[in-house]
Amino acid sequence: MKRNCFKKTNLKRYIALILVFALMFQTDIKYTNANESQETQVHTAYKVRDMYNMAIPIRFDGEDEYLNEKVTETNDITNIELIDNTYNKSEYSVREYYRAVSNQTLNLRTVYLSENDNKFTSIKLAHTRGYYSPKTDENPEGYTTDKEYRRLELLRDWSNKVQEAVDNGAKLKNMAGEEIGFDKLDSDNDGYIDAITVLFTPTDAKYASSWDGGTIPLWAYHTINNRITIKTAKGTLTSNRYNQAPIQNDPVSIYKEAGSDIYFVNNKTLIHEMGHIFGLLDLYTASGKSEPVCFMSAMAKALSPVVQFMTSREREAVGWLDADNITPLQRQVNIHFRRQRIKDRMGRWHIHWNFLIIINYIWSIAMWMIEK
Ligand SMILES: [Zn+2]
Repeated sequence: MKRNCFKKTNLKRYIALILVFALMFQTDIKYTNANESQETQVHTAYKVRDMYNMAIPIRFDGEDEYLNEKVTETNDITNIELIDNTYNKSEYSVREYYRAVSNQTLNLRTVYLSENDNKFTSIKLAHTRGYYSPKTDENPEGYTTDKEYRRLELLRDWSNKVQEAVDNGAKLKNMAGEEIGFDKLDSDNDGYIDAITVLFTPTDAKYASSWDGGTIPLWAYHTINNRITIKTAKGTLTSNRYNQAPIQNDPVSIYKEAGSDIYFVNNKTLIHEMGHIFGLLDLYTASGKSEPVCFMSAMAKALSPVVQFMTSREREAVGWLDADNITPLQRQVNIHFRRQRIKDRMGRWHIHWNFLIIINYIWSIAMWMIEK
């Protein structure tokens, strides 16, 4: 659904003006810092956290294995290579995004659960895709009112199959085919698997369902699931946070990096859902309509393929920024929002935001810079 994020109100024009000024000053500050001292470049001293995301590609009953199938629009790389480019390899990958947004403190690697030692395989579910989709004339086995029950059934379905696969010796592998120990899945040693991502190919038009304000079984979302336990070198780990997302491998969602042969897919949903793994919430309006708050963060309306940053407040909340990165204002800043009423020629009253707000803002920033 397309929503108009920029209504032409005067207030928004003023905010845009302020942002322009703020950005001009910010560029200036960065320039000064870079020349002034090396002290501002402390970020590399932070400890880098290695974290693994266990990707579980699934396929529905009656569907063929797709991971090793070639995607013609990508110079014939396979689906699993396309997935890996998107998560790990491309400069637009989920990994590079989180490296940047975490201020270089997080090295997030996605690895794949596979039942076969020699090739990558998806986990086959007990039910068909249609079973987890709405009932229509074309899809008679779909759900009608029991949508939430089907969503829980899907959760149970893949959990059972994954547990079965792990108990039967399924392994974690990176794209190079190297085995990764399951113990690596708990980077903070809390006994829980840090991140699970359930991946499936996009739902075709026959099963499509539109957002109706509640969670749809095949929608991309994040929640908690404690149903899986895995014995590892450092004790038994329990599943916890997971998200599920479709792999957007349809031609319109495939991108190619400029100047290289690396193809990847629309990554905004993968990055948004991964944000929930770190405890970040949706930045949606409080009106109950579940609309993202425009483009203010990847946790609002995420962009693709160059996904916008999280806000500084979110990054601070996760622990990716701290007092070393955010210099508090030393001087109390008073910004006065003054309103003026102006009578037009027809005798109607209009309220305008006073230009003083901008002068005040520039003055505050100037004072702050002088003090620095
Ligand atoms: Zn979300």
